[in-house]
Amino acid sequence: MKKITKSVPFFDYKHIFGQYSVELTEIILDISSRGAFIMQDEVKHFEENLSSFLGAKHSLGVGNCTDGLLLAIKAAGIGSGDEVIFSSHTFVATASAIYHSGARPVPVECGPDHLIDVKSIEAAITSKTKAIIPTQLNGQVCDMEDIIKLCIKYSLILIEDAAQSLGAKYKDKSAGTFGVASAYSFYPAKVVGCFGDGGAVVTNDDDIYNKVFLTRDHGRAKIGEVVTWGMNSRLDNLQAAILDFKLSKYNLDIDRRREIASLYNNGLNDVKELKLPQAPNANPDKFEIFQNYEIEVVHASERDGIRTHLYKQGIGTILQWGGKAVHEFEGLALKYSLPFTEDLMRRCFLLPMNTSLSNDDVNYIIEAIRKYYNYGN
Ligand SMILES: *Cc1c(COP(=O)(O)O)cnc(C)c1O
Repeated sequence: MKKITKSVPFFDYKHIFGQYSVELTEIILDISSRGAFIMQDEVKHFEENLSSFLGAKHSLGVGNCTDGLLLAIKAAGIGSGDEVIFSSHTFVATASAIYHSGARPVPVECGPDHLIDVKSIEAAITSKTKAIIPTQLNGQVCDMEDIIKLCIKYSLILIEDAAQSLGAKYKDKSAGTFGVASAYSFYPAKVVGCFGDGGAVVTNDDDIYNKVFLTRDHGRAKIGEVVTWGMNSRLDNLQAAILDFKLSKYNLDIDRRREIASLYNNGLNDVKELKLPQAPNANPDKFEIFQNYEIEVVHASERDGIRTHLYKQGIGTILQWGGKAVHEFEGLALKYSLPFTEDLMRRCFLLPMNTSLSNDDVNYIIEAIRKYYNYGN
């Protein structure tokens, strides 16, 4: 047995506290000792800072991104009888938000960049299609110009699932600011993660803002009068305070993620057995924030081998969504066939990508991969 020299878990949840434990302890003590738990100033401050960070008019803290998508979809007037197109290479949450609005989720293919395929969108449009919800996957942004052209051509509403792409940009415009509304996730493993669930709805549309403002808090207007049917999906004040602090460290964290992506790209780009994401700065129109580093093997049969080898070296990798596209979960009964996405789902996996990784960790992963495929160092 070869001795394992290192352990590099896929994600170290303790690190999101440990990285800034002194500052975060102070924040938790301050909020808790004041008893400022629900809808206090910290939520408002975070919303204002998030809006200015994204260049958007309004932000609303909500319980999580899934709720945020549902609240945004309903506020945009989408519901029963409507069809909504999404990329099947996404978290089930994109589709379940559509489903729970009463609309029908229509999955389409992704392209070689793993983002929604514009041709597949157009092929799926029917007289019932009401909206497109592209997922800004892996910290990347879709080619938004082409998607916006389709929205104009067919009079469709655009809502973005920006859960994985806070601060990613396309032509200097932030992911999540292209359509009528978007939702972000602050799940702990996301680029800006809180200590539990959290999310935000972002919009430039006053009407959507006013509706979600009410519906996230039981349909209550400012004075407590219930003016519409709502639900309880508020962002906890404690999480808002933690997120406000994390947002102030955003640039450091994203620089580091992009640095790690460059290390991977430089260290692995001659390995013909793998296909890597585009390196940072390779496309001047895009600013990627590397929520994930999703790579592909050429043939599906080769994936287990490399993953097992890395596992034996103490390196954690995962299959996004557990290895299935949304339409492949039989329990959802979507009954679509999407051959490109299905083939991709058998070939891709995620390498560790987070700010707890040292350069030594990343080089260790690169060396383990090179050794497996018999490439020199
Ligand atoms: C994480 C994620 C979500 C859901 O976010 P929650 O805050 O956990 O509800 C939705 N879509 C995508 C693409 C995600 O990665």
